[in-house]
Amino acid sequence: NPKAPSLISIRELSFMYGQFKALEGINVDLQGGRIIGLIGQNGSGKSTLLKHLNGLLKPTRGTIEVNGKRPDQETIAAMAKIIGFVFQNPDQMLFEETVYDEATFGIRAIYRQVSPEQKETVEKLLAEFGLLEYREELPVNLSAGQKRWLMIASAVAVNPAVLVLDEPTNGMDRFDKEKLAMLIKEWKNAGRTIIIVSHDLPFLADLVDTVLLLDKGRVKACGTIREIFSQREIFAEINIPLPEI
Ligand code: ADP
Ligand code: MG
Repeated sequence: NPKAPSLISIRELSFMYGQFKALEGINVDLQGGRIIGLIGQNGSGKSTLLKHLNGLLKPTRGTIEVNGKRPDQETIAAMAKIIGFVFQNPDQMLFEETVYDEATFGIRAIYRQVSPEQKETVEKLLAEFGLLEYREELPVNLSAGQKRWLMIASAVAVNPAVLVLDEPTNGMDRFDKEKLAMLIKEWKNAGRTIIIVSHDLPFLADLVDTVLLLDKGRVKACGTIREIFSQREIFAEINIPLPEI
């Protein structure tokens, strides 16, 4: 339904790191309840754009709205209720003493304490991700794959309307990837919006409804996966190998 209000609405957004223009004139409307793929070469501005969604970065120019809120005018905690992040590098994000504390980190940061229902949710997620038996272990002692699942558990536990996954399949084997793809589809069916940054185009091709392609801080293309992946010349131009779909 093209008349549905956008979940994410970006107008003339530009962002400078000092003198360097990382984003320029971004105009995008994204509908909720979908899986959105954010792609583009290294340095094209993907992470910079994502950091505007929760107010971690504020626009140099232009505006961004998420679910009717301006992230740059809200507290980080207010935005964290709406939008959860699974960052690219788990090793930089694991600070807690135990796996359980790490999995409840987001909940405690937002709500100060963990309700019985939230505790149940967290335990269910840990069990689902094969982490329950490690709940009292140090997170840094987990394998790379387990750390990724722990970050995912921590983000999902907050039950945000929007979930952002930055290169989630890095270091995942085929089975983990299949499991993640299945979960992402379940989250979508439950009404969530999922934004995935990935260079793994075959993984995305099977999942995403909408693709946003960034190139040198600008929107190069935005549309359905068929619309975008059929424009082979765009991908040749920016040197991204295209999967068969
Ligand atoms: P991507 O996530 O697509 O790889 P980024 O958003 O991380 O791209 O970076 C976009 C551009 O901004 C790159 O040229 C990068 O070098 C630059 N950049 C990113 N973070 C900083 C920073 N903290 N200070 C200065 N330049 C940065
Ligand atoms: Mg990045």
